Amino acid sequence: MSFKTSQGERLTKKQIDALIRRCKEEFLRDKEYAEINYCEACGTPSAKLSCSHIISVNKCQNDGKTEFAYDTDNLQLECIPCHLETESGTIDHHANSRYKKEFIERYNNFEV
Ligand SMILES: [Zn+2]
Repeated sequence: MSFKTSQGERLTKKQIDALIRRCKEEFLRDKEYAEINYCEACGTPSAKLSCSHIISVNKCQNDGKTEFAYDTDNLQLECIPCHLETESGTIDHHANSRYKKEFIERYNNFEV
């Protein structure tokens, strides 16, 4: 199985997963360096933060915009409750987060 990027390139799931892994590592390094220790969705300080995709990997792949799956701009540090909500697809949950809204707009307006 393979998925298209907006450039028309086809990537296998294995390639995509490797790119996502690298992207998450880079993202977490940057956040650690910047000493960000709060949930970027709701603002709650937390010791247990994980990186969450703003636009899910599945959606990026299915929309033919696979490159967004491994774009650090598409990641956000989230606390556990926020992460669970993001994963269950309630993307509007963080509608008050300006960054997230702007990213979703940018994604939706991006022509394939
Ligand atoms: Zn949160």
